[in-house]
Amino acid sequence: MKIADYLRQYKLNLKKSLGQNFLTNLEIAKKIVESANVQTGETVLEIGPGAGTITEFLIKKGANVVAVEIDKRLTPILDRFNEFENFKIYYQDFLKFDMKLLGENFKVVSNIPYSITGMIIKKILFSKFSTAVLMVQKEVGDRLLAKPGEDRSFLTVVVQTFTDIEKVLHVSKGNFVPPPQVDSVVLKFTRKENIYEKYNIEEFWTFVSKCFEKKRKTLLNNLKGFVKNLDCFSEFDLKLRPQQLSNDDFLKLFEKYKGCK
Ligand code: SAM
Repeated sequence: MKIADYLRQYKLNLKKSLGQNFLTNLEIAKKIVESANVQTGETVLEIGPGAGTITEFLIKKGANVVAVEIDKRLTPILDRFNEFENFKIYYQDFLKFDMKLLGENFKVVSNIPYSITGMIIKKILFSKFSTAVLMVQKEVGDRLLAKPGEDRSFLTVVVQTFTDIEKVLHVSKGNFVPPPQVDSVVLKFTRKENIYEKYNIEEFWTFVSKCFEKKRKTLLNNLKGFVKNLDCFSEFDLKLRPQQLSNDDFLKLFEKYKGCK
């Protein structure tokens, strides 16, 4: 059955507040799943399965699919997957979901609710994921891919430091019901295990977010209240603005900060 038919049959009005723009293009859903290179028996988390367009491909690939959906009204539509042993669903807020239930080395494949993109990416980055394929708003995707000197945020730096990030495909707004205001992109994040082993991502997250506290201010201004002894950074040019630094510069600054605390 088509997505529009499900919505009609169950008289479901999609909610903007939950970012409910459902993907209708099956070719795109298939490409998203293929880009994650899902293998039989692998655990795959899907945040917000909606009417199950992506879910269906994940189940067919033989993955152990763990879906987390906040909207219980979708139960009658998603119940069609209950016959599959490799499908489990939790009706709850993903931001409160216990990631330990997924074990280690799981993949994430999701078309996420855009209003909580940052919080979702944070939760994934802080977990034991191996690869994440996420559809995000195009502007957010561009910022996550931005190079030094371009429009970067602290999330850009953390994501690029701890994962290899690549653009998988562009998805125009006409491929959703209802169509959102903006186009989307699908991004693939691959965990850099060597960096995870060497650095504490939670500490790095806090440090870089302080460096970016006011994007247009210099590092010196941003770090003043946070770092007690700014002499530690004597070899760095603190007059630079955070967007100008490379990911390596941030790692060097972070190492200095750790050594100096
Ligand atoms: N995956 C479906 C698709 O591609 O058609 C739906 C994607 S839609 C952009 C986002 C989905 O996330 C919706 O099903 C929505 O109900 C769900 N959602 C929104 N907030 C959520 C949250 N905090 N936790 C879990 N699911 C959430």
